[in-house]
Amino acid sequence: MTQRPTLPPLGALKAPSLSWNAASPYSEAFGDVYFSRENGRAETEHVFIHANHLPERFSHWRETRPFVIGETGFGTGLNMLCAWACFERHALRHARLHLISTEKYPLTREELAQALEAWPELASQTASLLTQWPAAVSGIHRLHLTDRVTLDLHFGDTCERLALLDGQVDAWFLDGFAPAKNPDMWQPELFHSMAARSRPEATFATFTCAGIVKRGLKAAGFRWQKVPGYGRKREMLAGRIDTPPLDGRRQQTPWFTPPAVKPAAHIVVIGAGIAGTSVAAALARRGLRVSMIEKQAIGAGGSGNQQGALYVKLAAQTNDQSRVYFSGLLYSRRWLENLDPAHRFWHDSGVIQLALSEKETRRQQRFLGNHSLPNSLLEGKDGHSLEKLVGMEVTAESALFYPQAGWVKPRKLCEHLLSRPGIRYRQGEVVRLNESPQGWLIHLASGETLEADQVVVANAQLANHFEQTREVPLQAVRGQVSTLALPENVEGPSSVVCAGGYVPPAVDGVLTFGASFMPNNATTQVEDQDHLSNIDELRRTLPALATALETAGVDLTPANLGGRAAVRAASPDKSPYAGPVPKADAWQQDYALLRKDATRVPAVAGQHYPGLWISAAHGSRGLASAPLCAEVIASRICDEPMPLEAPLVDHLHPGRRIISALIRAQ
Ligand code: SAM
Repeated sequence: MTQRPTLPPLGALKAPSLSWNAASPYSEAFGDVYFSRENGRAETEHVFIHANHLPERFSHWRETRPFVIGETGFGTGLNMLCAWACFERHALRHARLHLISTEKYPLTREELAQALEAWPELASQTASLLTQWPAAVSGIHRLHLTDRVTLDLHFGDTCERLALLDGQVDAWFLDGFAPAKNPDMWQPELFHSMAARSRPEATFATFTCAGIVKRGLKAAGFRWQKVPGYGRKREMLAGRIDTPPLDGRRQQTPWFTPPAVKPAAHIVVIGAGIAGTSVAAALARRGLRVSMIEKQAIGAGGSGNQQGALYVKLAAQTNDQSRVYFSGLLYSRRWLENLDPAHRFWHDSGVIQLALSEKETRRQQRFLGNHSLPNSLLEGKDGHSLEKLVGMEVTAESALFYPQAGWVKPRKLCEHLLSRPGIRYRQGEVVRLNESPQGWLIHLASGETLEADQVVVANAQLANHFEQTREVPLQAVRGQVSTLALPENVEGPSSVVCAGGYVPPAVDGVLTFGASFMPNNATTQVEDQDHLSNIDELRRTLPALATALETAGVDLTPANLGGRAAVRAASPDKSPYAGPVPKADAWQQDYALLRKDATRVPAVAGQHYPGLWISAAHGSRGLASAPLCAEVIASRICDEPMPLEAPLVDHLHPGRRIISALIRAQ
């Protein structure tokens, strides 16, 4: 049986050790050039673009899904930028392009800029790439280069990354340094993974004619032929795979087999919080028509506070949940910068997680010992440096600092997301969903019935109130934030400070702090008791601020505070749900054998309600999880590569609790 591919460690990648040879980058480690400055672009066009017949294929591309190119070794990005430019030149107006590229030794932004200066005709593509260029950390980094063009950078070793890829490729750029200089990459697994992640009739092209490449491609099922190489290189290889092999990775987890792709033109999204509005925007970007239906108002639930923290809490030892949240944080950060470069509804003030107990100090030390992340993303801080970051005295001796995280005005964000073309907002309470021959009938409390091809349920703790979703376990968690108008001579913290709760920098002279945490409570009245627990937490987190307020004559009592209470939803394992809704009764029957013996996995694909999806259980970390979960759902609906590694997509599956309950019942 095929093993679940293992996820490599979460951490920083090695630098590429470059020198500059006649102003083009040269790898000291591999003893090879990235491209030649005289004819690099022409070589790319010849070897990768034309040998894959991209101009013709782009000009005929009429599918609703994007055309997908996969590359081994992103390097300076020249190949991908040329493919993008070719697409802009030849593709029809509604066509979309999805680029996937692996890279084990990412260049820095400065190195990339220096290398790409050689191609002024690609300046606009280069600028977009540089703005979003991620830190050199293992994982998938999704960049929206334009509304039509997406780039997924799979940072890490090519063989490992392709084994983890959940997606299919139409054309491969088989790059990477020459086989003789980089034998570790040109392994049989590379060709087998390429084959397994290929669409039928996917093509490939490569600059090399080495025997190991010819044999590897053939053994994996590709047909190849020698074609004239560029310039002095006499020959190169190009070819295709007619019938790719089946994806064997599903043998261990057949329940997570994605449902068949279903045509979609109109999608109803239920719930206008961060989960629903981010899904709506992700679908609208892909050209789908979206109707957003909300029972109360935009951001009426947990996404309606004045400020929310963009933060995550990662386990000391990396686990799937931490990986999802870390990827989510990095994605949200890029996504916000793209949506609102002027920072009208968010701010990258940084987030500090104080260690206020010995236990938390030890946990943070273990975390730092287990992860080698760049300081630009996460750094251990202590003493004086901590006080400088917070802007006041702090009692904690150490903390974790996320420089790129910060705070968001969630309701403004939700409103902005819904303002994009293609989304129609309407108020209404959905009471029932019924399958119909065309898709779904959406029954409203008003007696009206709407029709849609597909439905995304994203209304927090109410998400499992439909017949089809009732087996998706959700817990309501009440949370109240307190607000206080600051006197003129007192300032709030300069970063978001978290301990038990969070205290973001003040906005317009108003300090927000909280939130209370009351599981299994779905009430939304503002309560003095919650204010009192928020005041206690504020005194514990930032005693200097509490003292300054009292010295300035502020009465820190509930009577003096404003507030807002809302209900958030959590799953039993505290990870969000993002994916297709399982037919729970069918899963109970099909996988009943797991109760007796968890090793006997029935070879039956999981049954799902066709065209029914859920994004929920984002708890208090929705700003870090919901936008990436929206991509997970939109990518699946539109038959695109996924923005997370296959095991992490599975980790988010709304049916996971059914399987774990069956296995626990053994
Ligand atoms: N396609 C690139 C371009 O357009 O600039 C040029 C690629 S350069 C010749 C080869 C790239 O492969 C380098 O960036 C190198 O770091 C990367 N590489 C080498 N071995 C790798 C591996 N095992 N996994 C991922 N990337 C690798």
